[in-house]
Amino acid sequence: MSPQPRRSLPTALTFLGAAQTVTGSKFLIEAGEARVLVDCGLFQGARELRRRNWEAFPVPPADLDAVLLTHAHLDHCGYLPALYRRGFRGRVLCTASTRALAEIVLRDSAKLQEEDARWAREHGTSRHRPPKALYDTDDVEGLLPHLDVVPFGTWVSVAGPVRARFDPAGHILGSAVIRVDDGAATVVFSGDLGRGHHPLLVAPGPIGRADVIVVESTYGDRGHPPRDPAAMAAVMRTALERGGNVLVPAFAIDRTELLLVELGALMASGALPRVPVLVDSPMALRALEVYRRALATGGEDVAGAEEPAGGEGNAGVLVDRLYPPTLRELVTAEESMDATHPRQPSIVISASGMASGGRVVHHLAAMLPDERNLVLLVGFQAPGTRGADLLGGAPAVKCYGEYVPVRAQVEQVRWLSVHADAEELLAWLATAEAPPRAAYVVHGEPEAADALAQRIRVELGWLAVAPREDERVLVLPARQ
Ligand SMILES: [Zn+2]
Repeated sequence: MSPQPRRSLPTALTFLGAAQTVTGSKFLIEAGEARVLVDCGLFQGARELRRRNWEAFPVPPADLDAVLLTHAHLDHCGYLPALYRRGFRGRVLCTASTRALAEIVLRDSAKLQEEDARWAREHGTSRHRPPKALYDTDDVEGLLPHLDVVPFGTWVSVAGPVRARFDPAGHILGSAVIRVDDGAATVVFSGDLGRGHHPLLVAPGPIGRADVIVVESTYGDRGHPPRDPAAMAAVMRTALERGGNVLVPAFAIDRTELLLVELGALMASGALPRVPVLVDSPMALRALEVYRRALATGGEDVAGAEEPAGGEGNAGVLVDRLYPPTLRELVTAEESMDATHPRQPSIVISASGMASGGRVVHHLAAMLPDERNLVLLVGFQAPGTRGADLLGGAPAVKCYGEYVPVRAQVEQVRWLSVHADAEELLAWLATAEAPPRAAYVVHGEPEAADALAQRIRVELGWLAVAPREDERVLVLPARQ
């Protein structure tokens, strides 16, 4: 057997998802013989996008050496079990908290996929004959042992010439900015970038040296309004005082924690009455435990973990903030059904954040027809989701195959975002030591990605492009 001739082609980067759209993050790096995927997310939202989850993977999954995960949100890790089902057996490198959260997210996702397939089978609403799940619990359990923990701030070898380093991104617990180096050039992937003032997490650090930067642009054409908990409390209080309930569809991970911190503070100051806060999402509750554990033990990306020697840090104080006094954790399906008609005005926090599935759907079905209630949207709402429909003023939304009239008040709180806005993204990019050879703007709707690319060109003077889906580019060292 003769050895394989060594390829001397330059490293290539292919945008397999989150190009001209927010979901489906997947970036393929081919360096010599090594094939490494950065993120492995599900396409979510409109049907045309979700259909892409079913297409053949562009390279044989068995040929991939490794996947590097920026964080545990489904649009970054949710395709992993499908990749495993299709033959991937390589390593998945991620931080400790990302592994803990990804286990929760992926198990929940498999259950949703199975339930959707079962529902479609029983109601004849699927294009697949017979309807099938994209992946199931067995795929998730098969995949999970492949998740390997890497520490923050340390270079690890991945495959062939490829090394990687994970640094805190300040977006959700465990989230990372990932630097990938092939020995000649470094590509920095922002992943989802936090805002630098998360109450529980350390802020993203400077970029340093980068030859190529792949940057998200969820809010690339917008700024977040300043933090305004008093206004949020006022709109909630009005609904509670007229006998209504407040329903907050919240991403199970991190948004629930942020809300608990804010609600706890508002109740402590008297700005909000001490009404029950019901967290109704099995996934959110499991994630909450991961947060509490990380905060109690001073996880690597937890704010205050790096106190000077001798100091006790503020991890213990931080974890208290995740136990507001009126918190009730709803575990069973019965508790959840009871909560659709609470005995006294309450605040219900339930997933999913875009109201596209999960327990929040039966709360919506019960609460939307009553004009006393308030639905508070606190995160990004992708086009095609119920959340986006509500935000757009839809007079009725479909829940379980039936239209429900929207009479409840619908409001949005934009400052609770855990994504950097346009100014914050540009400020982070400006921490690069020198102009990269190129900045690729991903993870945004076309207008947002184009707007950020334009600002990078004008304000930083860099080459910046919003790549097309499946576009392939070479990775070369920046011209010094
Ligand atoms: Zn995210």
